[in-house]
Parts: sequence; structure tokens; C-alpha cells
Amino acid sequence: MNAKPFGLVFFPAFDWAISPTHPEREERLLYTRDQIVEEGLLDIPGIREYKPRLALTKDADRVHIGVPDIASLITDAHLVSAGGAITAAEAVLAGEVTRSFALVRPPGHHAMRVVHGTRGFCTINIEAVMVEYLRQHHSIGRVAIVDTDVHHGDGTQDIFYHDPDTLFISFHQDGRTLYPGSGFTDEAGSPKALGTTINLPLPPGTTDEGLHYVLDNLILPVLEDFRPDIIINSAGQDNHYSDPLANMAITAQGYARLAEKLKADVAVLEGGYSIEDALPYVNTGIILAMAGLDYSKVVEPDIARAPRGEAESARAYIRQLVAQQHGLWKERTRLSREAVAKAGDFWQRRRGIYYDDSGIHEHQAEVLRLCPDCQGYLTVATEAEGRFGFKSAFAACIPRQVCPRCRREGRDAAMAAKKAGKHQHYFIQDREQDLLERL
Ligand SMILES: [Zn+2]
Ligand SMILES: [Zn+2]
Repeated sequence: MNAKPFGLVFFPAFDWAISPTHPEREERLLYTRDQIVEEGLLDIPGIREYKPRLALTKDADRVHIGVPDIASLITDAHLVSAGGAITAAEAVLAGEVTRSFALVRPPGHHAMRVVHGTRGFCTINIEAVMVEYLRQHHSIGRVAIVDTDVHHGDGTQDIFYHDPDTLFISFHQDGRTLYPGSGFTDEAGSPKALGTTINLPLPPGTTDEGLHYVLDNLILPVLEDFRPDIIINSAGQDNHYSDPLANMAITAQGYARLAEKLKADVAVLEGGYSIEDALPYVNTGIILAMAGLDYSKVVEPDIARAPRGEAESARAYIRQLVAQQHGLWKERTRLSREAVAKAGDFWQRRRGIYYDDSGIHEHQAEVLRLCPDCQGYLTVATEAEGRFGFKSAFAACIPRQVCPRCRREGRDAAMAAKKAGKHQHYFIQDREQDLLERL
């Protein structure tokens, strides 16, 4: 056993659900809690439990542009969930525990930079709020986030898409067959951050064998190359063979071995909707593996149902996918330089974003300054239509370690937009000054 204990934060959010019968409800964590208590995990000296703290609205504002404001879109449960992730990370950084797992909800990985409502059960991105909190309050620079949920972590990808200091790796069931329909290999980061977003769309039915091939041959070597100050695992358990919302074939042992190899400093719970048949076993296996304890006995009662052996076609596809992504990783510096040269001074993107839970259609136009001296300022113009009618906003986002010219031009862009008056709300999100300013 490790000399230092393992940290556990638990927050089932009794008063938060999308609807009483919705799969994202408190029982998700209560069965896990029962299993943890039954196994006596909380009684052994190797595991220490922490109460989650309450994150502040300011912590969410550091990451998100909430329209009209983040406070009116969330409940206290969201702030405790994000606060639980922060608590888990700070216990590690303080040296009190070796690693930690925040078993919290509501989840966060589908929440993007701009927030008009709830999508994929997520309103604020709890991992991103934690990461930017750590950058603000601790000497954390390079961050790796490995998203092991069955759904593409499109929100986390969006928030860090222009940030070369955040490596985001997501494996998930192929977006052609599952919500949110994104996460393809060509989503690799904007020009200056090209290669630091890595998507691994896996075929439905992928088993432990395919998953561990991806882990051993791509994810672990890339992490070693990147040398992050901290590794975060967005730990979704919905790749499990019994999950009702997806079609993968991973077992509790497959997840536990993944946790053992990944050696994440902090795991933060995301999805997982097989409440009785999977979650208690998968979570217990992950806790034991992360704590350096024996997890070999954690086996689902219905394990005979688990599909075995990768289909030959899936095996060939996964090998090719890994080879392709490995090639991109090796060539990322050259590819990034070429993409910057091709884009010129500004990179632009227009897209539509759908909020399935809130019934909102958003249209966004982003303009990113490709600055040779800093990460460059970003402007986002957003328009959304839903039950509330119509909302619009314009935001200028000033990155950390911004150059004087980008700070000035970013602020000027927001002021000019306000003067033109085409939107309802105007923001300057200044990470350098740690301020979200409303104009
Ligand atoms: Zn999920
Ligand atoms: Zn600049």
C-alpha cells in the first residue's frame, strides 16, 4: 500500500435532476456509495474522504461566457460538483493524497465556452473550471485531460481548442453512431494548438482489448511526450457493456486496468447510466486501481454477458486509427506551422451548436488572432433561439500571458461591437486579470 492515502470526494446532488425519471439522477452515485461502504473502502487507512467545497460563480466565469450570466443558468449543485473536482485536485497538490477521484454530479464535459443552457446533461464544465482554478491559484501550466466517457467530450474540446498547453485526448464511440455526433480525427485544435486535441472515435462494440491497444500504443506514449504538470481523467463509465445509452463492451476490469495504467492525478466522474449493473463495480475498480490496491476481485455478477474478443474488422480499424494519430502527433510542429501560415493573421470558424436538454439552437462565429507573441485573443459572436425567445452576445476572450497588443485589440473589438449594438450582451473575459467584465 502507498504511504499516503487516496482521496475521495463524493457528491450525489440529491436536489438536482433533469427530470425524476431521467438517467442522470442521484441513484447513479448512491449504488456506488453502497458498494464502497459494503467493501469497507472508507474504513481502510489507504482511503481518505473529503467533503466537496462550493466553487464560486467567479470560478465558472473564468471559463465560461454565460448568456445572460452563468448564475441564472445553474444551481448550487453545479457549484458543489465543480467545487468537488477542485477539492480533489487540491488534496493532491497539497501532498495529502497520492491521487484522487471526485465522484460528483452534475457532469460537465459537454458544456462549452459559451453557455446558453444545458446540453448532454451538462451546464458548466467541471473539469475546465477546476483546471483554470488550478492555473490561477497554483503553479500549474501544462495540463492533460483524458476523457474516457463513451461520448465525445465536445465541451472540454471546445474550451481548450486554442490552448497548446492543454492536451485533450478523448476516446469515444464513433460520433456517426452516438451523441453528440462529433469527435472525429480532423478535430485536432486550431492552428497554433494543432495536435493538442486528439480524438479517437472507436467502433460500437469495442472491447477491453481494443481500448487497451489504444491506451498502450497512443495515449500513454503521447502523455509521456507531452510531460504535463497534472493528468486529469474525465471518467465516464458509459463504455460499459451494460450501459443503456451506448453500445460499447468495456468491463469493470477493463476500466480498472485503464485507471492503473493511466495514473491520472485526479479523476472526475462524468457519465455512466447502468446504475446497478455497472457503476458500483466500475467505480470501485477505479478507486482500488488508483489507490494502488488489489482490484482483481471486482467483477460484475453478469460478466458472462460481456462480449469477448474484438471483431477482426474493428481490430484492423483501431490499428489504422492509432497509426494515423501517432503520425499526426509526431508531425504536429510542422503541421501547426503550415496551418498558421495558411490561415494568416486570423483563424475563423462558424458553426451551429444544439442544446438537447434545453431545446436551444445556437449559431456562433469565432475569430482567433494568430499572434506570434501570445496565444492570441478570441472573439465570439453568439445567437441562440429557444423557449426563452432569442438571446445574443459578443465576447472578447483575453488569454493568460497575453501580449500588450492582443489585450488592446481584444478590448477594442468588444468596445466596437458594443458601439455597433448588434447584440444584447457584451463581455470581456480577461484571464490575465482574472475578470469577467460586462460592457
Ligand atoms: Zn457519457
Ligand atoms: Zn498577442
